[in-house]
Amino acid sequence: MSREVIKLGRSSENTLVVSYPKISSKHCQIRKVGEGEFIVEDLGSTNGTFVNGRRIKQTKIKPDDELKLADMVMDAKLVLSLFDLKSDAEKIDYAGLAKQTAIKADFLNLKKVYEKYVSDKKMLMMGSSLTSTGLRAGLSMIPYVGTALGIVATGMTGTVQAKMYELDEKFKMEYICPVCFRFLGNEPFDNLNKRGTCIYCKSNWKKDF
Ligand SMILES: [Zn+2]
Repeated sequence: MSREVIKLGRSSENTLVVSYPKISSKHCQIRKVGEGEFIVEDLGSTNGTFVNGRRIKQTKIKPDDELKLADMVMDAKLVLSLFDLKSDAEKIDYAGLAKQTAIKADFLNLKKVYEKYVSDKKMLMMGSSLTSTGLRAGLSMIPYVGTALGIVATGMTGTVQAKMYELDEKFKMEYICPVCFRFLGNEPFDNLNKRGTCIYCKSNWKKDF
């Protein structure tokens, strides 16, 4: 189901509830008038609705425009994305939405973190295997880098070991739950993505509203 109108304001009757004193209880509304076409309309708010710095009564709005309610800058992209949400929740808290959206983005970014770690580690091991013959053939058959580490360790030079350590430390700092910041271990991103929740804090990383 897709939305036709999103109402914004301080009161809980709105689709998007923005709890900020300078915003009127019924501040403005946005209508979807076509594919990717939206009209924002001020509903007689006290402190005004602004698009790209201009106070408006009614005007077109795009995701990259600046939308301001009173003196609060809203993320227009985020607000307009509500039209595409499958969820039919009647009330959405703006602060909660912004937070959850950030969590989801941070979570999805872990894919890059994991892939970079795996490829960097492979490169390091390839490099070190050149100096220790016999390891190269085995490397391509090892599915997980974690297990490979122990096997290769004996043939590694000090420099490679130091780099490997550095890589692991960096990974531990970056491959973390975006909510509780705990290290997610060597579990591949695809697994995390399938489960969608943190085993420590139980947060749902991909929740929609
Ligand atoms: Zn967590």
